[in-house]
Amino acid sequence: MSEFFSARYAGLIPYTPGEQPKDMKYIKLNTNESPFPPSPAVERAVAAESGRLQLYSDPENRTLRERLARRFSVSPEEVVVTNGSDEVLNFAFMAFADESRPLRFPDITYGFYPVFANLHGIPYTEVPLREDFSIAPEDYTGVRETVVIANPNAPTGLSLSLVEIERIVASNPENVVIVDEAYVDFGAESAIPLTKKYKNLLVTGTFSKSRSMAGARLGFGIGNKALIADLNTLRYSTNPYNVNRMTEMAGVAALEEDEYYMSNCRTIVENREWTTKRLQELGFSVLSSRANFVFAACPRIGGKELYLSLKERGVLVRHFDKDRIREYNRITVGTREQMEVLIRNIEEILKERSL
Ligand code: PMP
Repeated sequence: MSEFFSARYAGLIPYTPGEQPKDMKYIKLNTNESPFPPSPAVERAVAAESGRLQLYSDPENRTLRERLARRFSVSPEEVVVTNGSDEVLNFAFMAFADESRPLRFPDITYGFYPVFANLHGIPYTEVPLREDFSIAPEDYTGVRETVVIANPNAPTGLSLSLVEIERIVASNPENVVIVDEAYVDFGAESAIPLTKKYKNLLVTGTFSKSRSMAGARLGFGIGNKALIADLNTLRYSTNPYNVNRMTEMAGVAALEEDEYYMSNCRTIVENREWTTKRLQELGFSVLSSRANFVFAACPRIGGKELYLSLKERGVLVRHFDKDRIREYNRITVGTREQMEVLIRNIEEILKERSL
């Protein structure tokens, strides 16, 4: 830390992104990216737009917001687009939480939530998940706090039903409920239709997972017009050009190829079920995931040891050195071939250990 760093941030512990080592070629199952490339139409759109980079992007992102609005049956005024969904989450925390409206989220969830809360000095409560790692909806009903729920949750992959989400939203009319749907396309129910009924619901989404665009950084928020206007106040106070021209056009092209991406999601779901079964056969306990990853622990080998042994063999998974989940690894679901390599390596690691 330099002597110039503001005391305001001196205690900040930043988010640690998943590792991206360059020392060898890894099978990357550690950051929940899609194993499938963007559709050719997206590549063409990016190439075409790159010839116009001398011009600023449209600060209103009208074309993309209109397409998103059509895709999700809302109006463009109910949509904001951002540099990854991390950015819309950041704006939402700034906009809808403070000392008088503290935050409430699970103790095991997306690691960026406490980072954003600390960044903005917002008090927060981390509510323990149940013993089986599920979220107890009653912990979030009538709480008079700004609620943040990832649905499906990460890194567990477990989801709440739409009825449970609605109960939470309906019971907190004086606070915003933020539902982070980064992984919704892999089998959970989206709460977007509820934004018509509840003015305190903000749903966030991303093109990073189901739409193969993690590197383009494109996220969005959908909610009541007034909520979106608040987020825009913060966006225009930070960076009105937060979504660059190439990313905007890539997003538009991706929405035109929806069937390609939704079919990839179905493949991931099949691979997830295959991987879950194989891991269970090897003695793992695997949570019932609705996301593009599985969260699994093996009584025969420690979580960290498995992570390190897989890394040595060129397979990267994500291990969180955190109470309650230390024995688990979060494994992104890739192609069937990648999952076969994963399982083969785990079998070999376990065999070595039992000799
Ligand atoms: N929410 C959750 C639950 C996530 O796991 C992630 C991915 N790290 C994000 C939001 C943010 O992803 P992105 O900024 O790429 O949209």
